[in-house]
Amino acid sequence: MISHTTSHSNPTPPSGKKDYPYPLYAPWWKVEEGKKKFTVPIEIIQGKVKTVFSTDTPEEVLIQYEDRVTAGNGEKDAILKGKGNVCCLISAVLFEYLQDRGIRTHYLSLPTWRAMSCKKLSIIPVEVICRNIAAGSIVKTTNITQGTLINPPIVEFFLKDDSRNDPLLTPDRVRLMGINSQPLIDITLDVNNHLQALFTLMGFDLVDFKLEYGYDNHGDLFLADELSPDNMRLWKKGTLEKFDKDLFRNDEGDIVKAYKHILKELRRFI
Ligand code: 5GP
Repeated sequence: MISHTTSHSNPTPPSGKKDYPYPLYAPWWKVEEGKKKFTVPIEIIQGKVKTVFSTDTPEEVLIQYEDRVTAGNGEKDAILKGKGNVCCLISAVLFEYLQDRGIRTHYLSLPTWRAMSCKKLSIIPVEVICRNIAAGSIVKTTNITQGTLINPPIVEFFLKDDSRNDPLLTPDRVRLMGINSQPLIDITLDVNNHLQALFTLMGFDLVDFKLEYGYDNHGDLFLADELSPDNMRLWKKGTLEKFDKDLFRNDEGDIVKAYKHILKELRRFI
C-alpha cells in the first residue's frame, strides 16, 4: 500500500521493475488538480489495467482506468494513449444503462474522465463468461467453429487467477469453491439480454463478454469490474469486423479508434 502526500508529487517507479505498483500516468487527482479539490487518495490495488484507490468514504473506492492494454496473460503489453479514458467512459455508460434496467452494479458516479467512483466490494474469484457466438477460447478448446451461433447463450466460469492461466471450471468445482453460481448465471443472462438489445440496435453482434461480481459488506451481490470492448467481443452485425480487444490480441488494428467508435455510437443510442 502506498500513501501519497498532499504535495501531489508524482511517485517515481523503481527503475527496472516492470510491474511497478504505481499508476502509469499522472493519477486522476493530479490531472484534475485546480478543477476540484480532492483529498489525495491511497492506492490499494494496482491491477493490470486499472488502479483502485481508497476514498474518504469507507464503502467507496475510485477505480482509475490506465492507458495500458495487455493480452495473453500479460505476454502482450502496450501503452495506448486515450485507452483508459475511452474504456472508463464506455463502462460508465453501460453501467448506467444496466442500472436503469434494474441490474445492481458497483458504479456510483464519474468524478473525472478516467476514474469512476464505485461501491467497495469483496470480489468473487471467478470470471463469468457469456457467449452468443463462438469465438476465442471456446473455438480453441472444442470442435465448435468460429461464428457458430450459441442460442440459447451459455454462461461459463473461469478461475480468476493469472498465475494458473484462468482455467475453465466445472459447475461442481464452482460449488466446491463455496460459490453459489445460480444468481451469477441469472444476472449474467439478464445483462446479456439488455446488452444484446442495445448492441443489435447499434448494428453490432455481441459475441461474448466477461463479467465479475462482488459482495458488499451487507452480503448483497453487485456486478463489478469493467464493461468495455476490453472484456467483450463486438463484431459489426453479420460480419467478422472486430471492434474489440482482439484487434490488439491479433495485431489487426487500432483499438483506441475502434473503442471511440463504439463510444460515439453508444452516445447516439442511449
Ligand atoms: P475467451 O474465453 O474467448 O478468451 O473470452 C471470452 C470473452 O471474455 C471475451 O470477450 C474476452 O475479451 C473476455 N475475457 C476473458 N478473459 C478475460 C480477461 O482475463 N480479461 C478481460 N479483460 N477480458 C476477458
